[in-house]
Amino acid sequence: MKNLITLIALALMPAAALAEEAAPPPKWSIAIHGGAGTLNRDAMTPEKRAEYEAALQNALDAGAKVLAEGGSAMDAIKAAIIPMEDSPLFNAGKGAVFTWDGTNELDSSIMDGRDRSAGAVAGVKTVKNPILLADTVRTQSEHVMLMGAGAEAFAAEKSFAVTPPEYFATPGRREALERMKAEQLSALDVDLKFGTVGAVALDQSGNLAAGTSTGGMTGKRWGRVGDAPVIGAGTYADNRACAVSATGWGEYFLRVGVAHEICARLRFLMYVAPKEKLNELASEERPMKLIEEELFQGVADGVMADVAELGGDGGVILVTPEGHAIFSFNTSGMYRGRATSDGVNEVAIFGGEDKASATPDH
Ligand code: ASP
Repeated sequence: MKNLITLIALALMPAAALAEEAAPPPKWSIAIHGGAGTLNRDAMTPEKRAEYEAALQNALDAGAKVLAEGGSAMDAIKAAIIPMEDSPLFNAGKGAVFTWDGTNELDSSIMDGRDRSAGAVAGVKTVKNPILLADTVRTQSEHVMLMGAGAEAFAAEKSFAVTPPEYFATPGRREALERMKAEQLSALDVDLKFGTVGAVALDQSGNLAAGTSTGGMTGKRWGRVGDAPVIGAGTYADNRACAVSATGWGEYFLRVGVAHEICARLRFLMYVAPKEKLNELASEERPMKLIEEELFQGVADGVMADVAELGGDGGVILVTPEGHAIFSFNTSGMYRGRATSDGVNEVAIFGGEDKASATPDH
């Protein structure tokens, strides 16, 4: 009876009111990370914390501004990643970790969820913003991944300036390499945190994008490449599922194929539990938004549990087509931030510091 009355009321509504009803407000969402790791709350001074929070906020705001103004998810993630590559605080671009041979070798990848076009570079030494080179591989070459000298020759051909290697080197990172060698430590002992940077976004047109940039792990040798530049491991975006960027012990993320695995599980979930079915479970106390958020969080946590089971650690950020901005990490902290069209705007470092929900209403 109630349904019948609603139907009649709808039929009687003027066309303009119906159109207003039908068009939900445009929504967008972005999440960023600046690495995960065994972060010690007590060892972090208020000044250091403020410095990291300001750098994260700066990156988050740059990405959010693009989305709020109607820009694309691809432009938003680049806008967010570039300032983190330029900041010496993170292990990407300036401030990248050192290889065993005392150089800085940079890896990066980017993916457009619209058409799943992707670009990646590995082991570049003279490109200030590797995320832009990865994007140029995506848009101006017929390849997905270029490495080392070849990637730099491609950069030269596309008029990228040659940045002197000294630009990337910072005293703290050099000291970490020296300590690693002197005390025969592992990368995990000296780094404590993975400072890779990444961003994922949903724009107002419903498109998703993901990007990741890193210097890898301290003391890497023999041309070691981690997950960050590998499409499907460190980065993945598919409008049908989600956009993911990862940070952590790359070898494990490669073995699990983390970013693609999360997207694949989400697609499968949507297949077995389509929106109509989920809607039947929704109530005033447990709205659809919350049900989805819990399910998607469960998917990300499940894949991170796989990484942990193999012995790896780290974290991921993801954004879904509905605008859920989700974090999952099995370390004590992850430098992170998220912002949405609903006014959520937060940065956090340690576990448990996020607001309960960051999803725009839908
Ligand atoms: N995942 C990166 C790598 O293994 C490291 C990081 O996240 O900082 O190269």
